[in-house]
Amino acid sequence: MQEDINNFLKNGEAYEIKDGGIIYKDKVCIILGSEIETAEITEDGHTGSAHNLCYFPKFSDIKEFTKEMSHHIKNITLSSQRADISAYELIDIVEKYNGVLIPAHCFTPHKSFYGNCTQRLERIFKEKYVNLPAIELGLSADTYLADQISELEEKTFLTNSDAHSLPRIAREYNKMQVEDISFKEVLKAIKNEGGRKIICNYGLDPKLGKYHRTYCENCKKNVPGEAPVTKCDTCDSKNITMGVYDRIEVIKDKKESESPKFRPPYIYQIPLTFIPGLGGKTIDKLLDAFKTEMNILHKATYDDIESVVGEKLASNIVNAREGKVTIQEGGGGVYGRISAK
Ligand SMILES: [Zn+2]
Ligand SMILES: [Zn+2]
Repeated sequence: MQEDINNFLKNGEAYEIKDGGIIYKDKVCIILGSEIETAEITEDGHTGSAHNLCYFPKFSDIKEFTKEMSHHIKNITLSSQRADISAYELIDIVEKYNGVLIPAHCFTPHKSFYGNCTQRLERIFKEKYVNLPAIELGLSADTYLADQISELEEKTFLTNSDAHSLPRIAREYNKMQVEDISFKEVLKAIKNEGGRKIICNYGLDPKLGKYHRTYCENCKKNVPGEAPVTKCDTCDSKNITMGVYDRIEVIKDKKESESPKFRPPYIYQIPLTFIPGLGGKTIDKLLDAFKTEMNILHKATYDDIESVVGEKLASNIVNAREGKVTIQEGGGGVYGRISAK
C-alpha cells in the first residue's frame, strides 16, 4: 500500500497537502492510517486483544511509524497484525509521529476493548484517556447503545464502514462540518473544535451487524432472550460469542441511554445488498439511473425507483428507508437479515 502511494506521489496522480492528507486525482482526500492489534491484560488477568485505528497527517509520519512498529509486529505489510505491545504503549508511538489513536469497533467480541478486554477504556489508557478524541462504534452498535456508558459522554462517535472490500465502503459514514479538506480539519471535526464537527452519523441498524446478539458455538444459533444473554438456552453451554447488545447490557453504568448535547443524530441506513430481491444486476441498474447508492437509499422517490426496477423492489427499498421491515438479528459473525413486509 505504501508502495502504491509512493508511486502515485511520484507520477503526479496524487499530491500531499500542507495540513495533512493526500489528494488523489483531484477527487478524494486520503487520510493515512493503519489498524493495529494490541495485546492487553484483561481485568481478570487473561490476555485480550483489541484493534486500534491510527491516523497520521503526512506520508513521512506513517512511514516512520511503520519503521518503528516493525520491531513489534512480524508481518508489517499485512493488515491488522498483532503487535507485542499494549494500547497504553502504542498511543505514545502514534503521537510521536503526529498521529491520533481511536479505538476500533470497540464493542465487538474477540478484537476490541469493551468486547474482550475491559469494562472501562479509562482502565486501559489511564491518564492518556483524555488523548482519545473518539471511538469507532462498529456495525453492531449505535449511538443509543453506546450512550449508556458514562465515560463515553465526552467522546465523539465515529461510524466508519470497516470495509475490507471496495463495495462495502460507505456502508457506514460520518457527515462532517469542515472549512477545508485536510487531515487537520478532519481532526478538528472529530475533536469538535472551532465549529468543526460531526453533523450526522449514518450507520446500519445495529441488529444487522455480525455480532449484535449472543451466539452459541455448540448449537450454531443466536440465543434468544432478554439481554444480557450469557449462556445458551438450549445446551446451557457458555461456549458462546457474546453479542454487542448483550455485552453493553453487562458493562453499562447508566440507567437510560442519554446523549450529551453535542451528539449528532444517528441515521439508520440499510445498504442495497441487505434488501430482499436485490441482486448484483438490479443494483447495477439502479446505480446507472441514480449514480450513487446514497441517492437510492436516501433521496430517490418511490416513483423514480419504481420506474427502474418495478413496484415490488421499489417498495422493498422505500420500506427499508422508513424502517418498515422486520430484522432478524445478526450474531456469531453472521450479518442480520431483513424480510420484506
Ligand atoms: Zn478491526
Ligand atoms: Zn447451545
